Amino acid sequence: MDAKTEHLVQEFMHGLIKRNPGQTEFHQAVYEVAGTVLPFIENKPKYKDLRILERMTEPDRIVIFRVCWEDDEGNIRVNRGYRVQNNNAIGPYKGGLRFHPSVTESVLKFLAFEQTFKNSLTGLPMGGGKGGSDFNPKGKSDREVMRFCQAFMSELFRHIGADTDVPAGDIGVGAREIGYMFGQYKRLANEFKGILTGKGLEFGGSLIRTEATGYGTVYFMENMLQHAGDSMDGKVCCVSGSGNVATYAVEKINHLGGKVVTLSDSSGFIYDEAGIDAEKLQYVIDLKTKRRGRISEYADEFGCKFVADERPWSVPCHLAFPCATQNEINVQDAQLLVKNGCQGVSEGANMPSEQDAIAIFQDAKILFAPSKAANAGGVAVSGLEMSQNSARISWNEVELQDLLQSIMKSIHERCVEYGETDGRVDYLKGANVAGFVKVADAMLAYGVV
Ligand code: NDP
Repeated sequence: MDAKTEHLVQEFMHGLIKRNPGQTEFHQAVYEVAGTVLPFIENKPKYKDLRILERMTEPDRIVIFRVCWEDDEGNIRVNRGYRVQNNNAIGPYKGGLRFHPSVTESVLKFLAFEQTFKNSLTGLPMGGGKGGSDFNPKGKSDREVMRFCQAFMSELFRHIGADTDVPAGDIGVGAREIGYMFGQYKRLANEFKGILTGKGLEFGGSLIRTEATGYGTVYFMENMLQHAGDSMDGKVCCVSGSGNVATYAVEKINHLGGKVVTLSDSSGFIYDEAGIDAEKLQYVIDLKTKRRGRISEYADEFGCKFVADERPWSVPCHLAFPCATQNEINVQDAQLLVKNGCQGVSEGANMPSEQDAIAIFQDAKILFAPSKAANAGGVAVSGLEMSQNSARISWNEVELQDLLQSIMKSIHERCVEYGETDGRVDYLKGANVAGFVKVADAMLAYGVV
């Protein structure tokens, strides 16, 4: 960042931090955007003088509520629920629900802010939102999860709607939780409408929604490699996480001729030098979605290495796909990746790289796809699920695969359009500016609101 940009960003961040004290994740997400958008709008009074970025960093509204439920022993439990409705300039609020003990207002504000740019990049009419709770589904029985989801939806249902706000899954919210919440909404509102995405196929879900984020992250990497005259073929890949995004990223990497050697969860990572093939991947999917076990069991099953309490970034690889959670790549991790010959990073998780880690990737001139572009495939297929629900139709798998691939290609093209200088693409700048322009122009059309 040059001195002039640094000054602009510091001035902007000073006010933002004052208005949002202690919300470090939110500060980080805004800082990342401000560094590229502020220089872009500096000579554009229509955006600058009308304070579009200031308005985009103040959510339209935040709903915070008590979620009270009863555990299997008859104890009363109290959690906190949230919905951050960040911006609906280009369509109904759209973004997932996260159930994890680390959920705070700051985490959800960062996610809702990012989501606004991401949804804009897909080209579909979706605004940005995010929600969730500090509830921890780990170790809870099915019935406890059901009672929690019903209690959560008993308040949330007032604030969502097919044309208002359409939540989806995220960490800790998969098919099971979406089913419980959709059932409760239907009961309370007495209507069958597409108010959630990620639904089961029997009740309005879309084919390939589960796979879409992981697939999309890999398609984006493939697009970057092709633009640079390379391909996925033969690339050794490190993937982190072992949930929804990670597992389907592995499947697509395998399809495109790469080899994945790592997966992880919050207890550590496995290193399988032989590669995680389709059979081993099915084991992981069953382990995580049916038995709800730990990734260390993979090492016992297939006789490979498990490293407790560490992340996989010390393993040499050509490509890295962080697919677990925010801030899972720090400066040391980024340095190690670059030193070991990593040529590209595609962020499957939201904001998995710390700010200074991104600077290391950019200084090393390796390919770097920020999450708002790289993981937009999930919400894109959610957008397609909304269209299918409204029209009461279902597209087949081939049609949806083609649509997903073409949406990821067009996101890549928009990043190149706004991020290419002297033959080199800054994908962070491209994604931020392209995402900003569409939302900003819609906001301008509405006047000062
Ligand atoms: P899942 O709950 O299916 O999986 C999350 C994975 O990340 C698990 O393996 C989990 O391990 C691991 N993880 C979570 N928190 C931590 C932590 N603090 N440290 C280490 N590992 C951790 O979630 P998803 O796969 O759906 O989401 C993963 C990321 O992708 C998130 O950042 C999410 O916001 C993002 N994303 C997801 C989309 C989707 O369609 N699902 C769409 C766009 C982005 P453990 O089981 O031990 O907690």
